[in-house]
Amino acid sequence: MTAPSDDELAAARRLFAGPCEFVAGAATREAIPGPGLPEVAFVGRSNAGKSSLINALTDRASLARVSHTPGRTRQINFFRLGGKLMLVDLPGYGYAHASKALTAQWQRLIFDYLRGRPNLARVFVLVDARRGLLDVDREAMGLLDKAAVSYLVVLTKMDKLSPAERGEARTRTGFGLKGHAAAYPDVLATSSLKSEGLDALRCHIAALAGAGGFGL
Ligand code: GDP
Repeated sequence: MTAPSDDELAAARRLFAGPCEFVAGAATREAIPGPGLPEVAFVGRSNAGKSSLINALTDRASLARVSHTPGRTRQINFFRLGGKLMLVDLPGYGYAHASKALTAQWQRLIFDYLRGRPNLARVFVLVDARRGLLDVDREAMGLLDKAAVSYLVVLTKMDKLSPAERGEARTRTGFGLKGHAAAYPDVLATSSLKSEGLDALRCHIAALAGAGGFGL
């Protein structure tokens, strides 16, 4: 990923400092709002750090609920950012009993969402850097490949790794993208706790919003 210019960085920070409102929560196909603004979605294994990342990106303490009971959120939450972009918080997958496979219920809701979503510019697949890609993540990525939805793998909780482990996590995850047709050929490393990689992710998202949702 190329480093953003100062102007791009300033524009991205402006976008994320703007108003961010909860628009809808959808647990069924009927409740999913129709496509409108350019959209980016966040998905990952329960406890991967998705809520923390959304809160850190938008600098809101509790926009997305940080789950003390992982796996509880079973709905898709839509947040409108700066009147320009929709941030979509998809339900987490693979917690506890269902940790090895995506549940049918999860897949159905995700398919219902992905179907007819031309405004969806990118999905961010969040992966706990300590664990790396698990089978259930590969399964979710396979589903996105099948739906031909462009996605970027974002490593979370990088602060928990030593310098040596950091490089290794990036490399190993990068290798894991091979064979995934819709994967963006790069990995973004973040820590919500230490605000690491957040500007890079904000710039990536702002570019998608600025480009009308497509291309970088
Ligand atoms: P979600 O289930 O994917 O939404 O995950 P949460 O955002 O609820 O985070 C799960 C757990 O990981 C919580 O205990 C968080 O405090 C912790 N966590 C999230 N992000 C980070 C991070 O960047 N660094 C560290 N050290 N912990 C994190």
